[in-house]
Amino acid sequence: MTDKLYTQLFVAFLLFFVHQSFESNSQELESIRNLEGAQRGDVIQGLNQIKKYLKKYGYYSHDIEYMLDDHFDDVLESALKVYQKYLHINVTGRVDSATITAMLTPRCGVPDIVRNPTSKINHLVSNFKFPGKPNKWDFRSYNLSYVIKNDVDVFTEDELAPAYAKAFKSWADVSPFTFTRVKRRGKVEIGFFPKKHGDGFPFGIEFAHTFFPPNGDVHLNANYSWSFNPTEKNEVDVQTVAVHEFGHALGLDHSQFKTAVMYPYIKIGTTHRELTDDDKKGIRALYSS
Ligand SMILES: [Zn+2]
Ligand SMILES: [Zn+2]
Repeated sequence: MTDKLYTQLFVAFLLFFVHQSFESNSQELESIRNLEGAQRGDVIQGLNQIKKYLKKYGYYSHDIEYMLDDHFDDVLESALKVYQKYLHINVTGRVDSATITAMLTPRCGVPDIVRNPTSKINHLVSNFKFPGKPNKWDFRSYNLSYVIKNDVDVFTEDELAPAYAKAFKSWADVSPFTFTRVKRRGKVEIGFFPKKHGDGFPFGIEFAHTFFPPNGDVHLNANYSWSFNPTEKNEVDVQTVAVHEFGHALGLDHSQFKTAVMYPYIKIGTTHRELTDDDKKGIRALYSS
């Protein structure tokens, strides 16, 4: 009896801790609201948050060490312009309210810019990619096995299976792939994880991230409120996120088309499960040769 009480207390403590760490992380990013109007030449406490955000999502080259301090320098201005262009908001090069709103929107953790020949920051190799290896599966892996293995039990594995199966079917319908769920040793592992989960990419505002082929593992952020049929504003739809992340697991980058499944941001509380022409073109281009 005492053991059970201790277990309950321990679980309560863990839940509190997980909740607190999620809160503090969101709050840290929330502080960018105070930076509205910041522009080149300014030195304002907290500007490093903007730099870290842009670096994390691929707007700074990984080749060069940048000063992630509070000084609004030329590099920040040009990174900000590329970000604003990507999001189709006014390209001001300043921290304006549209930019702040965009940065505080829940998004996927996979960087937006991985290779962009027209940009100055074209040498970037995302941490989620494997340098030197093609970011697509070999034809021998077209029958891809996956295992559902949670670190945090947001739902049971069997509860999740139908949503994942539907998300995989969307891609199977427009590609040479078939997907088979296995109980162990799947090529692709899909799971819910806490903020810190040992891969060097702790979750912040991201709802998920995925490693490109030949890895393909999908990590979902257990700190969000997940649902199979969202009715509340704060609920994230499992299938919506799964279809997006599985696109990365097959090798697709983010799309700049707002309506595409592969757009990096999602509207929480809604569903967006159908592939668009842009998504279909992407997968066909990747696997047609
Ligand atoms: Zn993504
Ligand atoms: Zn991860």
